[in-house]
Amino acid sequence: MHIPFVDLHAQYLSIQGEIDAAIADVIKNTAFIGGERVKKFEASFAELIGVKHCVAAANGTDTLEILMQAYNIGAGDEVIIPSHSWMSTAEIIITAGATPVFVDMHPEYYTINVNKIEEKITANTKAIIPVHLCGLPAEMDEIMAIANKYNLIVIEDCAQSHISEYKGKITGTFGHAASFSFYPGKNLGAYGDAGALITNDEDIAQKCRMIANHGQLKKHTHLMAGRNSRLDGMQAAILNAKIPHLAEWTSKRIEKAAYYDEAFAKIGIQTPKKPDYTKHVYHLYMIRIDKRSELMVYLKQKGIETAVHYPVSMPLMPAFENLGGRAEDYPVNMSYIDNILSIPIFPEITVEQMQYVVDTIADFFNS
Ligand SMILES: *Cc1c(COP(=O)(O)O)cnc(C)c1O
Repeated sequence: MHIPFVDLHAQYLSIQGEIDAAIADVIKNTAFIGGERVKKFEASFAELIGVKHCVAAANGTDTLEILMQAYNIGAGDEVIIPSHSWMSTAEIIITAGATPVFVDMHPEYYTINVNKIEEKITANTKAIIPVHLCGLPAEMDEIMAIANKYNLIVIEDCAQSHISEYKGKITGTFGHAASFSFYPGKNLGAYGDAGALITNDEDIAQKCRMIANHGQLKKHTHLMAGRNSRLDGMQAAILNAKIPHLAEWTSKRIEKAAYYDEAFAKIGIQTPKKPDYTKHVYHLYMIRIDKRSELMVYLKQKGIETAVHYPVSMPLMPAFENLGGRAEDYPVNMSYIDNILSIPIFPEITVEQMQYVVDTIADFFNS
């Protein structure tokens, strides 16, 4: 049996008519950049999350970077982020000219350890970027309390957490702004790169819109130096076709995760934990096991694709060497780094496929 890490083709087949029509419509109308499909997407996405403004952009790294510029975060500023995330969360702080300050992960939830944030705050701290890693919301009550106490900007990195919830409230609505990625494999994925940022702050929304489009709101009226980070019409049309399915796809991910939880509990595999006041949307299903490299090779031989998110903790990446990160400062992250493994989870995965994954992992540890 072959089990891909994500099966984007299966999802396409389930909504083929809608996608094909959306793409044909864009081509017929030569609506390649901007235009009504992008406007419609921004309105629908803002409505989905329950915020006033959504600004679409080229990808989820750009939206974080655009937010850095919109909040004037730059030279001399420090931004607090989790030690464990995708590279984007840290690199956009560097490209803004500021300094990332890493905080170790929570031992059970893998998100930023909120008990370790305050000790990292200095007079230069300007913002916190919590990441709702794997689809599990970070501890937003504690994060917002700290941010309010020290007057910090909070930008939620929602790239992995579309429509996840914390204490009944959707993520992306806690901080000052939030950034989303629609990279094809994300829970809401385009057919290429795409991203969006959301906020209830009209001035910030307007500034971000300008930055994403060469500093202009009107053609040839450049009020500031910006960049080109526009969402194209094709991606917007595809996302518009997919948004109505997101709730159902998310419920399916949650069901699939529950199946894995139960099946792995029987064979003593460490499954992802979550606080009961969160809705985890399982962008990733990360188990913790020994002999990871051997297991990955074994699973691959048996037709099962797996991945590691991520094999290196950010403070120890060569890119951040000059910041002097030391492994001993991130003990939880370091103790897990060689044991985490993401196994296939996607809305279309079947019980048969999941049971095969579980059985194959059990076979590996039994033999
Ligand atoms: C995917 C991702 C991003 C970046 O998104 P792109 O659209 O690929 O630029 C940022 N942060 C996290 C946590 C991600 O997983």
